[in-house]
Amino acid sequence: MIGTANKTFQILKKYDFKFKKSLGQNFLIDNNILNRIVNGANIDKETGVIEIGPGIGSLTEVIAQKAKKVVSFEIDSRLLPILAETLADYNNIEIINEDILKVDVDKIIKEKFANCEKIMVVANLPYYITTPILTHLLENTKLIDGYVVMMQKEVANRLNAKVGTKDYNSLTILLNYYTNVEYLFTVPKKVFVPAPNVESAVVKILTKKEKEIEVDTNTFFNFVRSCFTQRRKTLMNNLIASSGKDKKELLISACKDVNIDSQRRSETLTLEEFNKLHKELQKVNIVK
Ligand code: SAM
Repeated sequence: MIGTANKTFQILKKYDFKFKKSLGQNFLIDNNILNRIVNGANIDKETGVIEIGPGIGSLTEVIAQKAKKVVSFEIDSRLLPILAETLADYNNIEIINEDILKVDVDKIIKEKFANCEKIMVVANLPYYITTPILTHLLENTKLIDGYVVMMQKEVANRLNAKVGTKDYNSLTILLNYYTNVEYLFTVPKKVFVPAPNVESAVVKILTKKEKEIEVDTNTFFNFVRSCFTQRRKTLMNNLIASSGKDKKELLISACKDVNIDSQRRSETLTLEEFNKLHKELQKVNIVK
């Protein structure tokens, strides 16, 4: 097993590997946590798995033992010779040296997982880009069935935050539209090397087969994000900041028309309310 403290330190020493903090490199050194992550994903021999950031391969190995195939994206080319050694015994793993944010995921899934019945993302995410990764995957492919991913606990709490709470934001709305989120478990700092500054959590995110409402996905989430730019300000202040002061009267009347008090804060609006408002503002040509 790669994911033990002894084995990890041995590999790091052999390759004289120096962690890059800027790439969110915190490697897992606890077998129990690795197994709990993979068990949470209900992977079987018909499942294709996308992993983001294999590091030295500790999670990749456990996934590969259960899955049909693993395609793993690693941005740091210094890890490639290490992975070639640590994962040499597995013939169902493909490592791709690319930035996940630049990958055409839809294309990759069609190319690499043609014979898989289910596609899951399983990863200990690089924390500095947790939100961009989730946004990138959710907005750019409909082919992923679910995600079991580790992230900062603080971000995990946002994913299924209740409307009106401080954790509720545009990421909550994105997740709520596309998926159902389940908080699986909290992970202490000490199971990583180096230990991160914050606590972590593993969440299970399952793609909804049917949506409760339909939104114009090309523009809706950009609109929602613009409403959260200045969290402490009211919805109206955020709308003015993105549309211009000259639109104030139009904005006030659009909010009235859909029965939304423009003095509310954005975190008090439900997905349905954002959708109503977005449609109304599209109608009067204030937003795209
Ligand atoms: N999976 C390993 C583990 O659990 O021990 C390593 C996880 S570590 C938190 C995150 C990994 O993501 C690192 O290996 C890092 O180099 C990689 N990474 C960072 N940014 C990335 C990006 N944009 N695309 C792909 N991989 C990235």
